[in-house]
Amino acid sequence: MEKPERTVSQKFGLKDTVQPQLEKSYHSPLIDRLRQNGFELKAGRLTIYLAKEFGFCYGVERAIEYAYETRAKFSNRRIFLTGEIIHNPRVNAELQHMNIQFLSGSGGGTVSADALGKEDIVIMPAFGVPVEALRDFQKKGCVIVDTTCGSVMSVWRRVDSYNRDGFTSVIHGKYDHEETRATCSRAFKYLVVKDRSQAEQVCQYIEGFGNRGLFLEVFKKACSAGFDPDHDLEKIGFANQTTMLSRESIEISEMFRGSIIKKHGPDAFKNRFRHFDTICSATQDRQDAVLELGRKKMNLIFVIGGYKSSNTGHLAEIASGFCPAFHVEDASSLVSSEMIRHKKIGAQEILETTSWLPAGEIKVGMTAGASTPNRVIEEVIEKLIQIA
Ligand code: SF4
Repeated sequence: MEKPERTVSQKFGLKDTVQPQLEKSYHSPLIDRLRQNGFELKAGRLTIYLAKEFGFCYGVERAIEYAYETRAKFSNRRIFLTGEIIHNPRVNAELQHMNIQFLSGSGGGTVSADALGKEDIVIMPAFGVPVEALRDFQKKGCVIVDTTCGSVMSVWRRVDSYNRDGFTSVIHGKYDHEETRATCSRAFKYLVVKDRSQAEQVCQYIEGFGNRGLFLEVFKKACSAGFDPDHDLEKIGFANQTTMLSRESIEISEMFRGSIIKKHGPDAFKNRFRHFDTICSATQDRQDAVLELGRKKMNLIFVIGGYKSSNTGHLAEIASGFCPAFHVEDASSLVSSEMIRHKKIGAQEILETTSWLPAGEIKVGMTAGASTPNRVIEEVIEKLIQIA
């Protein structure tokens, strides 16, 4: 008898079976036409320019396809997600319609992980899960379908090497983001810094000007248990959450390098500072493309994607440096030509802005985060044309 596979990290070879479903849910003929037409579309008083790189990345495509293949392979079994497979509400809703359920707790579903058994399937999301959670599922004996993106696993390999060589992993990321939580769980010692301002505080500490109590208060949720800034900042290995703002990550890394040199001298720093850029290529390509779009002098730019999506938020930040930029979730965000609902740049707040659509002939930029289906982009474009 064939031995059952308990952890599956290769797809099931059912791509042809699931392709029609994927096309039906996520594909867009309009976006295909836009690509063929040099990423431009003229519609009445609007000229719409689509970024050259946008939407689904390789990791997200793989994770979604994998989830669909899992449903096809185990048609009669219970299948669960530990939380959102990626940060896009449309995709998560589609999976729930296929009876792929969320677990309770952070997943928000009704079935507890404690109730899982050997017959159940659990899908790990594209951003991975903390190592403790993975072990729990393994102990229960359920089949684990691992869709963790290869780019996330390369951050984990980097952290492993820092562990081996006695370096503290300093991660530019958001401590409560799933990917960063998964990465931190693999580090013996870690500190997460979310931006330049926090990096500045760490640099001051390294250089001997910090306040220990204040430091521990600021980073209490963002460091490993028992973190000692007097000892654990002596040797730093730098990495990033894959979806951070690339230019900020580079600046932060340089700040740390400078502080280590100031404290220990230029010769010693090689043994005390390591840096590896772990921003994934899909994130970088989308950030570069929105910069290119901004330089074309748009009147406004739409950035489409889930409000929890880190990479979408960073695209909106970049776009807002050029012109008004609206981070919208889907077509329903364009309430009317008078009102738009959108996420505030760099914050969690959802705003309703009036008089947002300029009069006359306008150039509109359009991009989307790595977890946004083309179908959602199409719907936003159609709604915009309808109300303009
Ligand atoms: S954004 Fe990057 S790391 Fe995240 S799933 Fe896509 S390719 Fe992978």
